[in-house]
Amino acid sequence: MRNVKVYEETWPLHTPFVISRGARSEARVVVVELEEDGIKASGECTPYPRYGESEASVMAQILTIVPQLENRLSREELQTLLPPGAARNAVDSALWDLAARKATQTLTHYAGITLPQSITTAQTVVIGTPEQMAASAAALSEKGAQLLKVKLDDHLISERLVAIRAAAPAATLIVDANESWHAEGLVARCQLLADLGVAMLEQPLPAGGDEMLANFIHPLPICADESCHTRESLASLHGRYEMVNIKLDKTGGLTEALALADEAAKQGFALMLGCMICTSRAISAALPLANRVRFADLDGPTWLAVDVEPALHFTTGTLHL
Ligand SMILES: [Mg+2]
Repeated sequence: MRNVKVYEETWPLHTPFVISRGARSEARVVVVELEEDGIKASGECTPYPRYGESEASVMAQILTIVPQLENRLSREELQTLLPPGAARNAVDSALWDLAARKATQTLTHYAGITLPQSITTAQTVVIGTPEQMAASAAALSEKGAQLLKVKLDDHLISERLVAIRAAAPAATLIVDANESWHAEGLVARCQLLADLGVAMLEQPLPAGGDEMLANFIHPLPICADESCHTRESLASLHGRYEMVNIKLDKTGGLTEALALADEAAKQGFALMLGCMICTSRAISAALPLANRVRFADLDGPTWLAVDVEPALHFTTGTLHL
């Protein structure tokens, strides 16, 4: 028998996180805690309203499988019980954590991965005035960030990017529009980004409305985030995207995330690893993928006023392992 606990946590941010969909001032996560043979483990997810999830709906989904979880449900069985999404991620992450702890190994070693001593992570520049965004990019760059992820909406594209590029001339820039752009004007915008040396554009058009991406030769790689959840998404991405952003909250945990990484790479997509606004607990669960990706975007916990204990060790732009 396993003991199972499911609960919500709220973690205030030190700075509001502003993207095209709106602003957030706290991370609201759901945690699954397991205890088996005296060993405790946990997994975390961030429910996302964009995907129809709330803390309440995710808690309810997890509670439907607590009897099976108590009865030593395996990761393989879990994949058939819950759909991809945040709820399955919290449970899958807890099961991986439990297995690693039982083997007295770190999760990455248990998954057969050896990571370098540090990983470069993107640091996010959230939406603001061009001046605010340039100041943020300059500050992050001065503190050591080499990779900046610039959040944009449908306005001031050129003004914001020109200011940021001038403020952080040495940084690698990637841009995330979070579905806020339109087919009209897209080609010119992509060319502008390429001319400014932007290394990648993430999800310019709405998932389900991204056919236009197949109509022109991309001057920079375009990455699917909201359009890519699991291996099943890949068939619709060919010709539209060159990269996929893998997040455990979309795949429903590391089990499917590893399978998605394998399959996407096999089909010729470059890989990115992303996260939601979350604690170090959620980033730890994704680490077995960290050395397989072109871009790691794992700065979620760096937005928290206080992180879980023990926390991962971040300095600006770097995750130290
Ligand atoms: Mg994104």
